[in-house]
Amino acid sequence: MIKKILIANRGEIALRILRACKEMGIASVAVHSSVDRDLMHVRLADESVCIGGNLPAESYLNIPAIIAAAEVTNSEGIHPGYGFLAENANFAEQVERSGFTFIGPTPNVIRLMGNKVSAIEAMRKAGVPTVPGSDGPLTNNQDRSRAIARKIGYPVIIKAASGGGGRGMRVVHEESELISSIAVTQAEAKGAFGDDTVYLEKFLGRPRHVEVQVIADEHGNAVHLGDRDCSLQRRHQKIIEEAPAPNINEAARQKVFDACVNACKDIGYRGVGTFEFLYQDGEYFFIEMNTRIQVEHPVTEMITGINLVKEQIRVASGLPLAFAQSDIMFKGHAIECRINAENPDTFIPSPGTVTHFHAPGGMGVRVDSHLYSGYKVPPFYDSLIAKLICHSEDRTAALNRVKNALEEMIILGINSNIPLHQRLARDKGFRDIEFNIHYLEKLLAN
Ligand code: ADP
Repeated sequence: MIKKILIANRGEIALRILRACKEMGIASVAVHSSVDRDLMHVRLADESVCIGGNLPAESYLNIPAIIAAAEVTNSEGIHPGYGFLAENANFAEQVERSGFTFIGPTPNVIRLMGNKVSAIEAMRKAGVPTVPGSDGPLTNNQDRSRAIARKIGYPVIIKAASGGGGRGMRVVHEESELISSIAVTQAEAKGAFGDDTVYLEKFLGRPRHVEVQVIADEHGNAVHLGDRDCSLQRRHQKIIEEAPAPNINEAARQKVFDACVNACKDIGYRGVGTFEFLYQDGEYFFIEMNTRIQVEHPVTEMITGINLVKEQIRVASGLPLAFAQSDIMFKGHAIECRINAENPDTFIPSPGTVTHFHAPGGMGVRVDSHLYSGYKVPPFYDSLIAKLICHSEDRTAALNRVKNALEEMIILGINSNIPLHQRLARDKGFRDIEFNIHYLEKLLAN
């Protein structure tokens, strides 16, 4: 087992990783930017190192500084969390080349899945259902592009192979817009990701976002840990996630679970991972794989009782999975609310000092947060400040628990989106599972 881990992240996920290290008797090293010296996990870690300035490029994206910190502290493993360098294959490669263990998949697998064109190709080969599309990059042969789009049928969506974070996508409704839209998306992709490769797929009108959690070891074992629905999104950012995904065709679901497990074995996957799908009319369509621990992993932990970060560290240490598929039991329903430091109406970020913080509690209530009274939320990073996760015997009971917990939760001094969550917990469409990925934005527009 790895004996010392450097946590290359900040905020709630850094604290989440630190807690797993402590439970496992693993020594911890926190690395942080200047402004982040007051973070909760920095105070609790065995050691801490300031690795640079407040801009992400100066610290949390600063590969040489992170590797130097691992060297001076004699760390063995590096946990990237999510965001920042978590899906950066070059980082994983440099970590391994410097003699440390990257807590995640191999650099080659990160690279394969990081390019959406190669990811879709690998998934098709493994029998995972994908969106009807160009099956590879678009070329500068305009007639070919037009023929592909016509065959699929409009509307179509043009997507950057290297895209991420909801950027580098454009919906095309009719043929007259196709060629110019391809050119614009290519130019944007070149600017944003340094790669102008784009591809095309069918634009689905009212899908839900349903994803499958997997974990695999390097001994050829892979299992799934069920699914999650993350359809409530704003600007492609998830706001609420739940497990299991409600109202799913059971036969289709089991088939997709099997396909995901097979795909892990096919590509030599190691670690935790998520297969993201659009789900419409009982059919699944793969869109991408995330090769890291995700923000929404706690809802899966709550219904399986499995600590995903601990298992992630175990398999990164080279140990075989501690359980087989038949050992995994799913119990009840869990819902997560992402609490952001932002104005609940305008969504403008709201950094500043938290004058008072009170977390809700009680049976089945979990709060993953680095906040404390007096903590100053800096303006440089993601606005996620807390995750409220409620677990209960079924979806209705979990929703009621969320509603009550939100009433107990107090964050003073800065704005948060708690009022939005309070509204959603009461929302009829959400309660009745009558939503798709466009639901929240439509609700907000009214
Ligand atoms: P990113 O890596 O930027 O998150 P994804 O490929 O995961 O990009 O897509 C992000 C979101 O864009 C999806 O959750 C969905 O809302 C929308 N989207 C992507 N592909 C399609 C599609 N073929 N049809 C409809 N919506 C799509």
